Amino acid sequence: MDQDDLFGNNDDTAPKPKAKAKEKRPDESVAPSPAQRVETLRKELERHNRLYYTDARPEISDREYDLLMAELAALEAKHPELATADSPTRRVNEAAPAAEAVAPGKQVVHTVPMLSLANSYDPGELREFDARVKRLLGGPAEVEYVVELKIDGLAVSLMYIDGRLAYGATRGDGRRGEVITHNLARVSDVMTELPQSMKRTGHRLELRGEVFMEIAEFERINARIEAAGEQPFANPRNLAAGTLKQVEKPVTDPDDERRLRMFHYALGETDFDLPPTQGGFLDWLDQHGFSVNPQRCLCPDIEAVIAYSEEWETRRHELPYGTDGLVVKINDRNLWSLLGATGKSPRSMIAYKFSAEQAETRLVDIRCSVGRTGAVTPVAQLEPVFLSGSTIERASLHNFDEVERLDVRVGDRVIIEKAGEVIPKVIRVVDSVRTGSEQEWVPPGVCPECESPLVRLEEEVVVRCDNLSCPAQVRESLLHYASRHAMDIKGLGDKLVEKLLEKGAVMDIADLYSLTPEHLENVERMAEKSAANVVGEIDESRDRPLHHLLFALGIRHVGEGVARLLAGSFETLNDLMAARPEALAAVDGVGDVMAESIVKFFETPRNAQLISRLQEAGVMGPNPLWSAGKTADGPLAGMTLVLTGTLPNLKREEAAAKILSAGGKVSGSVSKKTDFVVAGEEAGSKLDKATKLGVKVITEAELLEMLGAH
Ligand SMILES: [Zn+2]
Repeated sequence: MDQDDLFGNNDDTAPKPKAKAKEKRPDESVAPSPAQRVETLRKELERHNRLYYTDARPEISDREYDLLMAELAALEAKHPELATADSPTRRVNEAAPAAEAVAPGKQVVHTVPMLSLANSYDPGELREFDARVKRLLGGPAEVEYVVELKIDGLAVSLMYIDGRLAYGATRGDGRRGEVITHNLARVSDVMTELPQSMKRTGHRLELRGEVFMEIAEFERINARIEAAGEQPFANPRNLAAGTLKQVEKPVTDPDDERRLRMFHYALGETDFDLPPTQGGFLDWLDQHGFSVNPQRCLCPDIEAVIAYSEEWETRRHELPYGTDGLVVKINDRNLWSLLGATGKSPRSMIAYKFSAEQAETRLVDIRCSVGRTGAVTPVAQLEPVFLSGSTIERASLHNFDEVERLDVRVGDRVIIEKAGEVIPKVIRVVDSVRTGSEQEWVPPGVCPECESPLVRLEEEVVVRCDNLSCPAQVRESLLHYASRHAMDIKGLGDKLVEKLLEKGAVMDIADLYSLTPEHLENVERMAEKSAANVVGEIDESRDRPLHHLLFALGIRHVGEGVARLLAGSFETLNDLMAARPEALAAVDGVGDVMAESIVKFFETPRNAQLISRLQEAGVMGPNPLWSAGKTADGPLAGMTLVLTGTLPNLKREEAAAKILSAGGKVSGSVSKKTDFVVAGEEAGSKLDKATKLGVKVITEAELLEMLGAH
């Protein structure tokens, strides 16, 4: 199995080191002995492996790396007495990091990429998949499949070296994951040491599987989180993810322990001799004590797969955990590498998604909620109904037009649907069972929270409360201001904000900066230490960068992306406030509508006052994006680039950072002002637009060449 890649991908698609050479030969005048040189080379290669794979900061190009490796191999061939079993030339995969090099929070490279699966949604698509497989395999009569349940959790990788868990990592982007060994080791289904019978010195075994949280545990933890006044998690998957990324800290109360589970189901890198079929591999895992999902099926053909899927489509609620479909794999693993992969997905397996779950219940009322921008949203109040692993009591109706379109009346039987992670929505009314006692719903003319008249702008479906001091809006704007991607003020959650408003301790975001620990202790009967913590968090938020501040202000149409664009073009908040609409609209990616909305926001006297009070409180919005763009007179100075699609090696943020530090600008949309569009795989409309406007399209490699890093 040594170099066998189960997904048919070779490591040559892995990211390449990109930095300039720093490696120097030792002084030639005192030529080292072969033994000394071998020693030096091994140390250097180990170091570069670590720099590249663990620290993600390579110092030499891969060409130079190959040369060092070739020199070492040549020396070892010439002097066999110098060859050792642990030489980088002998390593199963010299790329994989050694155990001691992998610290929490660092990144590791998955030497066998963790690919994602293509999806199918109905039996027809499964039959097409089967037909394609047979065609590629030269037309066997039937192909045998193993079907496993698709658990809604997080894919992880566990690397055992010399029989011990060397590290555990997240899937990440499939090529690089984050090391989370300490948190994985807490999962009771994760072995930190292999059984004695499996221990072999110098051997590696990488197992993969899904970490998830059972529904009952999710509800228990969420109840505790809510009781503590914090925001509960939307679903078990998010809570499991949060738990896996938790910073290591001792759990003082055993009830705070969040119990996760894991099912093992796949193999990464290994030099173990393992059963050649997926079914055999799962049995092997089971026999050796690894937690494997007992719900699996060996199917002689695709029709058996479809029958099995139909069974679970209805039985899925009997399980203590959430499942959103099945994974269908060819049983014979030797065929996997033969079939290879297309784009990001292996051809030998496919996911099958169950249809979105629906339930019928009674709509008992329609109430309106008021959001941060004053938007009033009708929400259906339902008779509690169990759907997709949780009890649903509310469903979205989006806006007043939607209520009219559905012709939904109070007392109606309705069908609600929950697809993926989105909040449930009302799909339709079961009007065949109407009794005539249902009440038509009349949209309110005034705000349900402050009774100001509601307004509806032309060509907008949204109805708004225009009262800027509407308590609902103030509450939502405070929560938005404190949220993670805005000013990131931890501890300022729902309950606390509610209390602060109720007691009049704050009226708007600027008031936050005059809060003292005593205030908090009074309004929320908060412990001294946590009160001091929250005030400390508020204090720290003064230094958040300008783009966070712009997003936090909650200007309509200004999301995180636009906030970045603005911060890249205006050095200070005052510069931005003084900008004319034309200057704003001239920023690539900012259109007329946004420009108008921004100007209107700053023109509103109340907002202008709010900002000057924030500035008096020391909230200045330092602007790293501006300095990054302007101080560098790099190879891309003055140029605007647009990124689209998935780049082969760089993540989008990485590419953007490189462009910025080379003096260039990154824009969110293509226009005539765009100098280059960097297109990766699955580039969409931006690529079309570039072609139409005649903007030059380049690849990641060409970008790197322009940056002078090759
Ligand atoms: Zn209102």
